[in-house]
Amino acid sequence: MDLQKTDVLVIGAGTVGSMALWQLSKREGLDVVGIEQYGRVHAHGSYAGESRVFRTAYHEGGLYVPIMNRSRELWRELERDSGRDIYAEVGALSIAPEGFPDLVTAMGTARDYDIPHRILSEEELRKEYPQHLIQPGDIGLLDHHGGGMRPEVAVGSALDAAEARGARLFFNTEVIDIEERANGVVVRTTQGAWLAHRIVVATGSWSARLSPELNELLRLQVLGLTWFMPRRIADFLPANFPAFLRDAGPVHFFGAPSFDGFSFKACTNPEWPVFRDVDEVPTSHTREELIRIGQRAVELFADVNPEPVRQSVHHCAYTPDRLPVVDRSASGRVVTITGLSGHGFKFAPQLGEWAAALVAGEAAGVDPRFALAAHLERLAVTGPYTGGGH
Ligand SMILES: Cc1cc2nc3c(=O)[nH]c(=O)nc-3n(C[C@H](O)[C@H](O)[C@H](O)COP(=O)(O)OP(=O)(O)OC[C@H]3O[C@@H](n4cnc5c(N)ncnc54)[C@H](O)[C@@H]3O)c2cc1C
Repeated sequence: MDLQKTDVLVIGAGTVGSMALWQLSKREGLDVVGIEQYGRVHAHGSYAGESRVFRTAYHEGGLYVPIMNRSRELWRELERDSGRDIYAEVGALSIAPEGFPDLVTAMGTARDYDIPHRILSEEELRKEYPQHLIQPGDIGLLDHHGGGMRPEVAVGSALDAAEARGARLFFNTEVIDIEERANGVVVRTTQGAWLAHRIVVATGSWSARLSPELNELLRLQVLGLTWFMPRRIADFLPANFPAFLRDAGPVHFFGAPSFDGFSFKACTNPEWPVFRDVDEVPTSHTREELIRIGQRAVELFADVNPEPVRQSVHHCAYTPDRLPVVDRSASGRVVTITGLSGHGFKFAPQLGEWAAALVAGEAAGVDPRFALAAHLERLAVTGPYTGGGH
């Protein structure tokens, strides 16, 4: 078998893979290859769907704030590099009943980490954000560093930046298996085989297929996206409408301002079970699901048509506590980053920077809780993720 050779091979050119390729390509003298099973920027990955919410006052806790701050710098760098708009810093507005635990955590991170923010009373919310139907007892947290991101533009820009610095990218090429040897890692694909000194495995929802050790840890959560048409679209354009998270009783909604000029994205909690493999995941909402989501939307947003004008169904690999997996194998040759658990798009640039540092054998400063062994220890206590997270 003829083996093509490279220094570093990245498997998967999606969210994490594109950011890893971009960061690796900045390192002088390194030959970098990226391999993606679909085409360049496709509709099958966990990044698909027009927008992602960015926030720094984090509902998931302070552990993430430095990661978010570094990612924010890198998103700006990617915008400068590519000349494209990736990140509209229009703010992220969390609305929930006063005392709602996630909101209390987010307010704590805003205070503890000096994140520019504003707390809004029920009256202020009603007056300043009439697009939202405010419930009695609601309060708001406006994270000024939050906003809406364009994920397809981001992935495409990172791939372009990597290629411009010499990375070689191969699309429509599936990696079939990987084998660690004394002299490197053999990566077999549908278009031939490679011998790489080091590899980065960034295969998202497909991770357990190539890395069976992740099989018990990861579960696929299905996440649906819906877009609604408001009567007055001007109120929902980025200049007037921050990205948002809403919690009202058991109902959670998240979304972004209008990027298409006629609808805005508002999506609710997933009610699907978890799956193990991408092939099992449903590919569309049912009519009943769309009717139910529309009924919830009209209770929370002013003057919207309850029929979604667009919808799509996606998936993401989750760990039980929604911490990502960032790991380097004992040999140092295989770096694995996955399990972004429905919230990792925003901090993907930091993951890409870590990937490049781990490949180089550097101490990347990754939180030890992200290591695979630490995840497996916690898994033995908690059991796998069972669903319902957003
Ligand atoms: C609907 C939805 C909404 C979300 N909202 C937010 C949000 O608002 N904010 C936020 O921060 N995060 C959000 N997330 C989470 C975030 O988008 C994901 O966590 C992130 O995109 C996952 O990145 P990834 O690199 O792990 O996977 P992906 O981006 O899917 O990349 C994996 C890539 O690997 C490729 N691949 C897999 N196997 C192989 C193989 N064998 N050979 C070659 N290539 C392979 C795939 O084709 C794919 O391109 C959301 C996720 C979803 C699904």
